[in-house]
Amino acid sequence: MSAVADINMPDVTGHFGPFGGRYVPETLMHPLQELEAEYFRSQHDPEFQQELSYYLREFCGRPTPLYFAERLTRELGGAKIYLKREDLLHTGAHKINNAMGQILLAKRMGKTRIIAETGAGQHGVATATVSAMFGLKCVIYMGAVDCERQALNVYRMKMLGAEVVSVKAGQQTLKEAVNEAMRDWVTNVRHTHYILGTAYGAHPYPVMVRNFQRIIGDEARRQMLEKEERLPDLLIACVGGGSNAIGLFYPFLNDTSVKMVGVEAGGLGIMPEQHAARFHGGSLGVLQGTRSFILQDTFGQIQLTHSVSAGLDYAAVGPEHAWLHDQKRVEYTYATDDRALAAFMKLAQLEGIIPALESAHAVAEVIARAPTMSKDDLVIVNLSGRGDKDVAQVAPKVGLQLPK
Ligand SMILES: *Cc1c(COP(=O)(O)O)cnc(C)c1O
Repeated sequence: MSAVADINMPDVTGHFGPFGGRYVPETLMHPLQELEAEYFRSQHDPEFQQELSYYLREFCGRPTPLYFAERLTRELGGAKIYLKREDLLHTGAHKINNAMGQILLAKRMGKTRIIAETGAGQHGVATATVSAMFGLKCVIYMGAVDCERQALNVYRMKMLGAEVVSVKAGQQTLKEAVNEAMRDWVTNVRHTHYILGTAYGAHPYPVMVRNFQRIIGDEARRQMLEKEERLPDLLIACVGGGSNAIGLFYPFLNDTSVKMVGVEAGGLGIMPEQHAARFHGGSLGVLQGTRSFILQDTFGQIQLTHSVSAGLDYAAVGPEHAWLHDQKRVEYTYATDDRALAAFMKLAQLEGIIPALESAHAVAEVIARAPTMSKDDLVIVNLSGRGDKDVAQVAPKVGLQLPK
């Protein structure tokens, strides 16, 4: 088996090896084909590309810095650590890269209504933001449990003019929100575009979202060459559906010297229903339009998941990651809730950066690995988002109280 990933993936049918594809009801086949055709046309349209890079620069705040984490590096005493600062983007996470790309596409297709699912609320906020910008009606589906643990983001979406639908089915988290969004899309597909928030779902979503997010890796590559005059030795990113990770990894896939680690949510540990580490207990299956690694029981029923971080709390992983896992091009590990919380506090107090709980999983991994590496080694950690949304949830867990 080749150690080098095929960067031409997916094939024309949307498959990454045995993963990916398009497993949807018949009524969605035509809209997906229409989206695919328009997306590939837009990729070759210089006017579209110019418009996208204008808004990414002027509105979103790209390029984001590749920041040398001096105190964290010194404290860990090993590899030199750089942080890719997606947390500095407008709305506070990498999600806006994809939301901006897709809303420009929706406008191009003449759609007047936008829908999206959201877990931690970051994708919902990004989608509500770009919808407000361009004056399109916006409906966000969010699990009732997530609405509660990410209340700040619910208020932000409403302030931006979006309707937020609290989904009370099943586990009341991200999976159920995706189901509702797909149901809405089937019903309203003529004038509605579904802005899916991660590198998941039916073709062309995984390839389209990856390509809207690859700007993270393209910038990081250029910035590292400028700063250190060579490529990094290791890339680390957290993996929910997989968009921030594939965005960082993709432009380095053919650089065989660059190792990559994806960090899933280990929750309370690798026991059934206590985590969301699909590569540690998952198996091949189909969920929400695509074929990938899924946490399921022996009857193919989707298992419950747990993570302290809503954005990583999902039973399936993007098909390109399943392929890169099979190819052994990327290593997948996990961080438990406890390790993520410790990393969250450490980054805040050593670097003055409060990371998103999702990103704290990647930070936990560099804390474990950097001390075992040489001082000449270069690591990039993708700081996918900032932690404001998580402050109220973390404070009681680390024993913080308001002054009396
Ligand atoms: C949504 C989110 C994630 C997880 O989604 P991916 O598609 O795996 O990137 C990670 N970090 C932050 C800050 C998020 O908002």
